Amino acid sequence: SLDMEGALTARDRVGIQDFVLLDETTDAAFLSNLKKRFSRDLIYTYIGTLLVSVNPYKELDIYNKKQMETYMGINFFELPPHIYALADNAYQTMLTEFDNHFILISGESGAGKTEASKKILQYYAVSCPSTTLLNTVRDKMLMSNPVLEAFGNAKTLKNDNSSRFGKYMDIQFDSQGDAVGGHILNYLLEKSRVVHQNHGERNFHIFYQLVEGGEDDLLHQLGLERDAQHYNYLTQGECAIVSSINDRNDWKTVKNALQIINIEEINTNHLFGIVSSVLHLGNIRFESNSKGQAVLANNDELRWVSNLLGVDARSLQEGLTYRKIEARHDQVLSPFTVDHAIYARDALAKAIYGQTFTWLVNRINESMENKDPSRKTVIGLLDIYGFEVFYVNSFEQFCINYCNEKLQQLFIQLTLASEQEEYEAEGIEVIPPHRNHIHTGDEECLRPGDATDLTFLERLEDKMGNHPHFVTHKLADKMTRKTLERGDFRLLHYAGEVTYCVVGFLDKNNDLLYRNIKDVSLQMNIFIFFQVATQFKSSLLKLTEILMAKEAWYIRCLKSNESKQPGQFDEALIRHQVKYLGLMEHLRVRRAGFAYRRKFDVFLKRYKPLCPATWPHWRGEPADGVEVLVQHLGYLPNEYKMGRTKIFIRHPRTLYATEDAFEK
Ligand code: ATP
Ligand code: MG
Repeated sequence: SLDMEGALTARDRVGIQDFVLLDETTDAAFLSNLKKRFSRDLIYTYIGTLLVSVNPYKELDIYNKKQMETYMGINFFELPPHIYALADNAYQTMLTEFDNHFILISGESGAGKTEASKKILQYYAVSCPSTTLLNTVRDKMLMSNPVLEAFGNAKTLKNDNSSRFGKYMDIQFDSQGDAVGGHILNYLLEKSRVVHQNHGERNFHIFYQLVEGGEDDLLHQLGLERDAQHYNYLTQGECAIVSSINDRNDWKTVKNALQIINIEEINTNHLFGIVSSVLHLGNIRFESNSKGQAVLANNDELRWVSNLLGVDARSLQEGLTYRKIEARHDQVLSPFTVDHAIYARDALAKAIYGQTFTWLVNRINESMENKDPSRKTVIGLLDIYGFEVFYVNSFEQFCINYCNEKLQQLFIQLTLASEQEEYEAEGIEVIPPHRNHIHTGDEECLRPGDATDLTFLERLEDKMGNHPHFVTHKLADKMTRKTLERGDFRLLHYAGEVTYCVVGFLDKNNDLLYRNIKDVSLQMNIFIFFQVATQFKSSLLKLTEILMAKEAWYIRCLKSNESKQPGQFDEALIRHQVKYLGLMEHLRVRRAGFAYRRKFDVFLKRYKPLCPATWPHWRGEPADGVEVLVQHLGYLPNEYKMGRTKIFIRHPRTLYATEDAFEK
């Protein structure tokens, strides 16, 4: 005797908390539920244990300590969906089953991945048992965020705080569940941003923080002006000031954070010395002399760079204006043109900055290191740069989108495979769901060994010409009628079509420094990377291995609108994301088999008040109790199956009705 009207009212009010419980699995039903919830500031919804999150673009009062406490140790489905519930569930499972987990946070640029990963870290910081000693590890983990964001995030057209590097962080727990250490792996920082920003974008936050917030004394020591407009590397995007960013406050936060993660003052000074040397480098100008050779137009900046980096000014100048050529037993200096000199200058700036970033990650890792070698388990948090498409897309977007493509493949593989495995483990037979076609393709692109950007493109055409998801100017346009410029190629990614401009690909991939600039940088122990893409590819492969060895949890972040406005639910934009993230497929997979599964004891504990034979105590095996209970509730034989440890419920409606009966 269900009060259907009562149930409908609740549904109307807040929508369905779990998409698995939707009556129909149409795009329209999915979207309307998401929209209903979004309009009530309910940004989280489940698909089973997967969490869907829609960026509200406003502060919601759902991340306070009281909320955290509400979610500690609860059963996943007992409270409204929340990122804390997922974090807590992963943590509880890790503790009871003593195995490793990871939380994969995905979504396009600006969807809320980085915010989500911070919320999880904050949750663990509050929810895990604590001692004074462990508090310091915890603080360091929390404080690693503002530091890495200052150096690795920037304002882009998509996101005012866009991650320009990939980050995988392990949080290590001991058997009591205390957080005892952390470790970060970082992936491919977008170094080109140091020397070039598109219109409407900024360089990495740290530069503006330093110039805006740095103390007078410090700026004086570093030879800096308190004016971002003064620096060539800070003004190309023409948006040094961003309304959503307070560089001065952020500077204080970063300074404080550096202290907490134990970076000594001497190193901090050195660090900011290097950061300012990049700004000075960018202001070095060249002129062409009568022979067309590059000569320095201003000496002051060069002197600052050499002082701040502790390198010899003359060899620096030489490195910036001459190429050293080895001839038999001789070395010949061949003068640069102005263009070459600028190239050499920018290459040095990028190398310095990239190296500094690596150094920082290493220092953070040292400070979070788990000093106790005894057995531990981890929860890994993966927060990478999201899929992005700009007006012009280059090597950086190519790598970023490639990375997203790989992770999407991993997701599909893990969700489908793990579903099947669970049924097998529980001894339940189901027909395997229809497998979605997985795009492959851009693998081939990530190989070095070409002479110019155009020969690279030609090789691509040779290798990929027949690939349905690849097209160039030369090849017939298979995907759209849109024209392609010479030197462009287009890929159909899982998240959409992207046209890449091949100009600069090779340079960026090789990441070379001219020979004598290399000599200069060796004075500073700067390590030069070769073949970025190959390295990136192999580090992603390693990441996949790390992830495959762990239990997966998923958070899928959706961007609500392109204008970063609260309260705007752009249906077309969201429909597109729901589609390419494969959320409907995921939902259908969950429903094709058994939508719900619960451990017998958990199920019994929750629903035993509904049956006189199980209430208040069931004295036999939990499985038998569950059987008695569901018979009493009138479950039909085809509505559920008993596994080895869990009950599987086919239609969500069954459980929904049970929940309603329970509510009454
Ligand atoms: P990228 O791939 O560019 O790094 P991202 O997915 O990491 O993007 P975030 O930086 O996490 O995106 O989010 C972008 C902005 O959206 C945040 O700066 C914040 O203003 C807003 N935002 C995201 N999540 C939330 C949230 N849960 N509550 C309130 N605002 C949010
Ligand atoms: Mg981010």
